[in-house]
Amino acid sequence: MDYTKTFKSQCNVTCPHCNAPVPQTPGAGRVRLYCTPSAGKAHRRRMRALGFDV
Ligand SMILES: [Zn+2]
Repeated sequence: MDYTKTFKSQCNVTCPHCNAPVPQTPGAGRVRLYCTPSAGKAHRRRMRALGFDV
């Protein structure tokens, strides 16, 4: 953990929907998990359909 950088810039997030690296917006806010909101929606819906609690 490098405390001279923001926490979010150290998160290497790949989109679980299309496996693309997700660029993090600097500043306050949550860590982005999906490349687009629609990709997140589609992924969560698919996981729920498979029985996962996402
Ligand atoms: Zn994606």
